[in-house]
This record gives sequence, C-alpha cells and structure tokens, in this order.
Amino acid sequence: MQITIQKSTNPKAKPDWNNLGFGVYYTDHMFILDYTEGIGWHDARIVPYGDLSIDPAAMVLHYAIEVFEGMKAYYTEDGRVLLFRPEKNAKRINSSGSRLCMPELPEEYFVEAVKALVNVERDWVPKQYGTSLYIRPFMIGTEPHLGVRKSKTYQFIVILSPVGAYYPEGLDPVKIYVEDEYVRAVKGGTGFTKCGGNYAASIIAQYKAKELGYTQVLWLDGVEHKYVDEVGTMNVMFKINDKVVTPELSGSILPGVTRDTCIQILKSWDVPVEERKISVEELLEAGRNGSLEEAFGTGTAAVISPIGHLNIYGEDLTIGGGKIGELSQKLYDTITGIQWGKLKDNFGWTIEVK
Ligand SMILES: *Cc1c(COP(=O)(O)O)cnc(C)c1O
Repeated sequence: MQITIQKSTNPKAKPDWNNLGFGVYYTDHMFILDYTEGIGWHDARIVPYGDLSIDPAAMVLHYAIEVFEGMKAYYTEDGRVLLFRPEKNAKRINSSGSRLCMPELPEEYFVEAVKALVNVERDWVPKQYGTSLYIRPFMIGTEPHLGVRKSKTYQFIVILSPVGAYYPEGLDPVKIYVEDEYVRAVKGGTGFTKCGGNYAASIIAQYKAKELGYTQVLWLDGVEHKYVDEVGTMNVMFKINDKVVTPELSGSILPGVTRDTCIQILKSWDVPVEERKISVEELLEAGRNGSLEEAFGTGTAAVISPIGHLNIYGEDLTIGGGKIGELSQKLYDTITGIQWGKLKDNFGWTIEVK
C-alpha cells in the first residue's frame, strides 16, 4: 500500500504528560483510506488531523454503518515503541465489518496504516510507565443515500490519542451492578462486533448503575436474562474454586484480545480455564459460600479491572474482601510487563514500530 504523507504545518503544543485523561487530546495527523465499489481501497494518506467533510445524507449518520477498534502503542524504557497483537484487531475489524456488509480491509493494510501513523507521531507516545498512545481505527459508510442497504463508498480512518495511566495509584476494585432490565446483545445480533450502535444502546444502563452507586453494569444474556455476558465494555472472568471461568464466545459477547491473552497466560501457568455459560445463580451461590475468590473485567483500556462488589438482584456480594486478588494482580503485572517491554515476550505478541 502506497501511503502519501502531508505533514501538518502548525503542530499542536504537547499536552501535560502527567494529566492526559482518556480521549481528551488528539495528535497532529490522521490516516485515511477510501473505498469505492468497483474500484476497491484507494488513496491511502496521512494528513493533518482535522474535521472530516461528509455529506449529511452519508449512511453512517443515519443507519450507523460504523465499526471500530481500540488498541495502544507503548513506549519502552529503551526507547522502542511497541504494538500488542495488532493482527488480532485487523482480523476483528473485518469480522465486525462483515456483519454490517462492509467490504473487507486486507489485514496487512490495517497493520501498515497503524504502524505508519504511529511512526509519524512517535513524539506523541507518552513515556511514563502506564501511559500509552491509544489507537482508534474505524470504518464508516459514506455514501449519501437514504434507502437502507449497503453503502457503496467507505472510509477507513485511524486517529491517535495519548492517554494517562488507567490506575495512577494501583488497581482499584470497582462496584458492579447486575443489569436485569436492559440488554446489550442477543445471539444473531451484533454483540460480537465493535459497531457503534452497540455502545449507543448501552449508555442508559451505565447511568442507571451510577445512580444506584455502582461503577458499571454486568450484562446478562438477552434471551433468558440468566447467564453472564460482559461487564461494561470489558469481558469478564471469575475465579471459583481455583478455576477461572469466563463466558464462552457465543455470538453475543465481544471476542476480546485481552480475554484471549489472559486465557493463554493462565493456561501457561497451569491454571484451569473454563469457557462456558455462567448463570447469575451460580455466582450468587459461589459468592455466598465463599468459593467466588476473584472477579475481574478484561480489556485494552484497563487491562484488568478487579471487581470488589457485585450487586445481584439487590444482594451485594463482596468479593475478596473488596480488594484485588492475587491472580488478578499477577495477570495485570504480566500483561503490562510484556506490553511496556519490561518482561520477556515469550508469546511473540509485541511488534516494534520503526
Ligand atoms: C473492546 C471490547 C472488549 C475488550 O476487547 P479488547 O480487545 O480486550 O480490548 C470487551 N467487550 C466489549 C463490549 C468491547 O467493546
């Protein structure tokens, strides 16, 4: 893929590296690739970051023809910039996109685009341990058309945002509310995709949980409201009786890269992992009899998010005394150690940007 680069003539002042937050600052450039039916992908370019110009009838604005990815670039102590398993994100944007009848983006284009843009923006990769350059690739249907069908034109775009450490003061367990009114996804729907519409429909439950004094929701399956799906925008794992159990990839949950990473690491430690249905009844029982030892969410943003409290149908279970569990901490240390280049990457998961 030939990428033309148009450098910004007035680069922005860099933000306060100690106060980055999440998704507040954007870098000087963005990557854009066009798709036209009958021609394919064309005009790969890195241009100054700025407003997009799209027709008000563009299909993305009416029918949410959009999928996205979330990944990070990490700065190592010896000055390298690393990506973590980017080929997994390349595969996933296509499995998301095919559900929305979007054209396939060659995986190598995805990885090349991310690498080229991060390379141009190397100065924007924060250097402090725990901070990173968040990468947001996304694809939109741009054709001006009001009938409901496939779009004939698309754009694949990548933007970058330097983000602060998720846990500036150590991993802090969160309080989770089991949501039994709203649902996130059903089998046959779009739960396994990172499509914008899923998130629009989930926001209401987040506010409800906040109002009740909880940080996030635990989503249940959309048919029986009985089995655990995900927690907020993360996959979820439970340590029960020395085994780690996590919902199976049933079509309604997102196949997380961090989920897969945790499973592979746990197996390498000889910790038994079961991917299966987990009912709220089972959790309630395990919580009451003390066999629910740890619970945590997994995702790119937080890596591991320990769950200290779980409200199931009004009953508030405290997990692990409300503190982070040993295994959760060890997983966090191992994954972040590999990502920031402090630990040896025996799995071959990191790729250097150069
Ligand atoms: C992105 C996402 C995840 C986590 O996936 P990672 O690849 O680990 O970042 C889990 N659930 C939902 C709903 C998500 O959008």
